[in-house]
Amino acid sequence: MKVRTRMAPSPTGDMHVGSLAITLKNYAFAKRHHGQFILRIEDTDKIREVNDGIEAIQRILKQYSLDWDEGPGVGGKFEPYIQSQRLAIYQEKAEELIAKGKAYHCFCSKERLQEVKEKQQVEKTAPKYDGFCRNLSTKEVKKKLDQKQESVIRLKVPENTKIRFNDLIRGEIVVNSDTVNDQVLMKSDGYPTYHLAVVVDDHLMEITHIMRGEEWISSTPKHILLYEAFGWELPIFAHIPIFLNPDGKGKMSKRKGTVSAQSFLDQGYLPDALLNFLMILGWARPDNVEIMNMKEYIDRFDPADISSKSVVFDLKKLDWINGIYIRKLEPAKLKQKIEKFLPNDFPEDKLDSILFLIRERLEKLSDVEELTSFFYRDIQLNAQRLKLLLNKSSSEKVIMQLQKTILELSTINSWITANIENALRKLQENKEWKKNQYFMMIRVAVTGKKATPPLFETIEIIGKKLTLDRLNQAIKFLSN
Ligand code: GLU
Repeated sequence: MKVRTRMAPSPTGDMHVGSLAITLKNYAFAKRHHGQFILRIEDTDKIREVNDGIEAIQRILKQYSLDWDEGPGVGGKFEPYIQSQRLAIYQEKAEELIAKGKAYHCFCSKERLQEVKEKQQVEKTAPKYDGFCRNLSTKEVKKKLDQKQESVIRLKVPENTKIRFNDLIRGEIVVNSDTVNDQVLMKSDGYPTYHLAVVVDDHLMEITHIMRGEEWISSTPKHILLYEAFGWELPIFAHIPIFLNPDGKGKMSKRKGTVSAQSFLDQGYLPDALLNFLMILGWARPDNVEIMNMKEYIDRFDPADISSKSVVFDLKKLDWINGIYIRKLEPAKLKQKIEKFLPNDFPEDKLDSILFLIRERLEKLSDVEELTSFFYRDIQLNAQRLKLLLNKSSSEKVIMQLQKTILELSTINSWITANIENALRKLQENKEWKKNQYFMMIRVAVTGKKATPPLFETIEIIGKKLTLDRLNQAIKFLSN
């Protein structure tokens, strides 16, 4: 079977990471079956469209290397792929439906529709168009059209029939048509609504599988009616569960943190790492291996195996995966990628050696400042640090340890890790100081932190002068 999937974003703002995940699935499934992945821009809602929205969609997909086989910039057999350039097609299709008795012109004014709505609110019935224009005669319609009365075209939803469709993830779904509104298909400004445009284009573009967010599942019955009204074959539907916020509560939303596909890049997540994370959110490989590249994913991904439950967007897991991908980078690549996250006062001459040391601990590229600032900025000792410095010893003892350490380190001529390590270990052993206490104390005195990269390497990079200054600073701090 030839497989054609599509992503049909609207240019209404930054792409949500959930949409990126859906794009990934459409992309991978098409690739798996040697089919085509189509990008179509659904820009029929001019009020919600943002400036640069169409370009932004293409830019972000390119950043994640999710290239489309047909669509804007690429072209294809079913050009154009931007809905606002296809208005004549929708008009023609809407008229075809009218001719078949499956749609009708509606001349109701905003005021009348508002009255209907208010009445329904009072009567506590479901908000629905009341069918006022459903049965206007052809003559009446013609007269109104000739008088240039403003109108929309509505779907003539059949009464009390069962609408059925199969969802690849949720199984059979049955809805009574009485719950479905006589949806507007064409607006008075000549633009189609989403419902008409999506069905017409998915059909004309020969889309075989529609994988989209589950928020669209309530629209699908309307779409089924349209397919039936046109006499078109149904595609296969898969409605993909939404992501929940990292705290497990509610649909993943801006209010609770980062949601746009771009903002993850801005925070220093690598595109491949984020994609890998999205692969395993709500889907697992049969062998449960979690780290995989695109090819391995493509070889295995089947939308029928997507979990029907909403999944928590687990940032800890994402960080873990990103760390793995960071460590996979060649040093030169890492250097190049981290460049834009380096603070202005970062000592460029030490970049290689510092990166080498912190590599193991980097989870996001933007962690770099937090992980390295003690190499090049003053450190502050405070009450919290005092506890770590003392670690149950007396301040007299710790001051004495610091003084002896300063003496010992001062004698080192060649300031390299091996010599530093040797000197400090010998001192600790000779004095029979407790290893944990002593080295933690030195670590905190020299870096101001409890957790750092390996201590002796770190001291080498900090340099002799600064190390000795900091040890002296700790003595002063403890003496006060
Ligand atoms: N234009 C819709 C959106 O912005 C597409 C929904 C669909 O995939 O059918 O998400």
